[in-house]
Amino acid sequence: MRVGLVSVGDELLAGDTVNTNAAWLGNRLTERGATVERCVVVPDRIETIAEVISELHDRYDAVLVTGGLGPTHDDLTMDAVARAFDRELEESDEAIEWLAEHGGYERADLAAGTADLPTGARVLHNEAGVAPGCVVESVYVFPGVPAEMHAMFETVAEEFTGTIAHVEWIRAAEPESALLDRIAAVRERFDVTVGSYPGEHVRLKVQSVDPEEATTAAAWLRDRVDVVESADEPSESGPN
Ligand code: ATP
Ligand code: MG
Repeated sequence: MRVGLVSVGDELLAGDTVNTNAAWLGNRLTERGATVERCVVVPDRIETIAEVISELHDRYDAVLVTGGLGPTHDDLTMDAVARAFDRELEESDEAIEWLAEHGGYERADLAAGTADLPTGARVLHNEAGVAPGCVVESVYVFPGVPAEMHAMFETVAEEFTGTIAHVEWIRAAEPESALLDRIAAVRERFDVTVGSYPGEHVRLKVQSVDPEEATTAAAWLRDRVDVVESADEPSESGPN
């Protein structure tokens, strides 16, 4: 399954907020076997959000949008989703009933617009906050607050599927340029993809949909690379 991500918010573009939502979704989706093909960050502007959602909806099997829900002036995502699908926004009775039952909010307590969704949308309840999300066709709309987004994503996580790759990490105590020959050799010898991420050490990510191929290739590489071994920094697990 090929997926596009849309992160909405002026604060993301200005660098006031780090886009952890895209990283978190990239991780969870990849873990499930879905492939994230693109991630677009857009400002709080209806036309731009609508345009990007339409484009990614045409291109990918699913689009996941975060941010800009709720009733404040810069929360425009639901308007944009409605525009992208040429639908109206209407108050969702189902969302309001759920909030009354689970959140203790009566209709009168909710700021106007809080439960407005595009007509015909499937409601996604917000177990960690107030503003509901929704699904329209294959576009999933989640809140921006990370804890709220995480909780809501988990309610639909099973809808994102694909072939799960087996991943092996190797942390190398050599400069990236020195590793080029062995990276080329392992790619030639085995049916794996190799990522090379320099930093304090070079992290090599060896992956394949065939677990045995990935482990054999990683073992081959570990025998030929000066591997960093430390209790705090396991060389075989975790991306960081
Ligand atoms: P609420 O329903 O609570 O109003 P929301 O969906 O309207 O949430 P925003 O108003 O866009 O979300 O953002 C709420 C908070 O979440 C802000 O502090 C914002 O910086 C943060 N946030 C938004 N998008 C992201 C993101 N992509 N990564 C990390 N934090 C984010
Ligand atoms: Mg908001």
